[in-house]
Amino acid sequence: MIFAANFKTNHTRASTAKYIAVLKEKLHAKKPEDRVYIFPPATALDQYEGDFKIGAQNAYPTQNGAFTGEIGLEQLEEFGINTLLIGHSERREKLGESQEKVAQKFRFFKDQGYEILYCIGEPLEIREKGNEAVMEYLLAQFDGIDIGYEKLIIAYEPIWAIGTGRSATVEEIASTHEALKQTVQKPLLYGGSVNPANIKEITAIRGVDGVLVGSASLDAEKFSTMILA
Ligand code: PEP
Repeated sequence: MIFAANFKTNHTRASTAKYIAVLKEKLHAKKPEDRVYIFPPATALDQYEGDFKIGAQNAYPTQNGAFTGEIGLEQLEEFGINTLLIGHSERREKLGESQEKVAQKFRFFKDQGYEILYCIGEPLEIREKGNEAVMEYLLAQFDGIDIGYEKLIIAYEPIWAIGTGRSATVEEIASTHEALKQTVQKPLLYGGSVNPANIKEITAIRGVDGVLVGSASLDAEKFSTMILA
């Protein structure tokens, strides 16, 4: 199983260091085949040793240059970062990242050999139209994306389930993962209100290869409990 923690705009450099110290200890008890990823905010990126990988939540597709407010390859390389989250719905919806921009970012970091955790997900009005509409929407989020890329992990995150406390149902997750796996044969995570109470049920679903966790990942003890569940 893959367990990924997306801190979003939470935690500082200091609190991330404390978090990692707690997590590191807890991870001694994890199954060797389980993989853990932590995506702290950019200001908290650092070189941490342990049985987990640190990734960036975002970066601009450039080595360096005049892109005010952004970080590029040079800033990530300083901390040995080679994992990146791309396509998160908050970047698509709240920050206006178009599919074209997402794909451009994907191509650049793929060419740099980055491991990419690529997010897709539909809004509620599409979910309410039924499975066919959902799949059409989700597959469009692969436009310009090399789904054969060897270092690709996909996260299916229905937008209406993110940060709402309302996870998708087992049936919704199972049927969407099954349908996605007909197109993309990559590790497929589910994300959207995953927490200690539903982790076992979600990770037991066929076609779920792991989880991407927001709110419930912010506490190291809580997230560790989920990994060790
Ligand atoms: C996320 O933003 O990737 C996420 C899954 O958030 P939450 O777990 O809070 O729904």
